[in-house]
Amino acid sequence: MRIGQGFDIHRFADDDRPLVLAGVRIAGERGLLGHSDADAVAHAVSDALLGAAGLGDIGQHFPDTDPTWKGADSMAILREVVSKVREAGWKVANVDVNVICERPKIAPHRNTMQQNLVDAVGAPVNVKGRRAEGLGSIGRVEGIACMAVALLIP
Ligand code: MG
Repeated sequence: MRIGQGFDIHRFADDDRPLVLAGVRIAGERGLLGHSDADAVAHAVSDALLGAAGLGDIGQHFPDTDPTWKGADSMAILREVVSKVREAGWKVANVDVNVICERPKIAPHRNTMQQNLVDAVGAPVNVKGRRAEGLGSIGRVEGIACMAVALLIP
């Protein structure tokens, strides 16, 4: 078995780009700044999987200097990561995710987020929403952070 952890953080954008978390477009909330669609959840899960498989990190595989990934659907990036992990001889056993933010509330979107991630990784995924209790940059509602852990089996 192999275990990997992923972390990502994005700041809120000032323009009207949509907020996308685990492939779910959440209306009426500020979007996140980033080269791709800035889906911090898809990025953290991708990094957990790449880390577990010993395949480096998302920046090596999908560099933000590459115009291919400008505005990219990060769930498509995640699916590509899953195929790289499979090619390396691993199967995803499960993934556990913490989304840390003051806004939006994760609970109303949690089932859809989980289902999108299950569809992408082909294994059970658990999504948890966590507030930062007003502390630090996340507490000041400057952005959204995400942590993920992934377990791989041969
Ligand atoms: Mg990111």
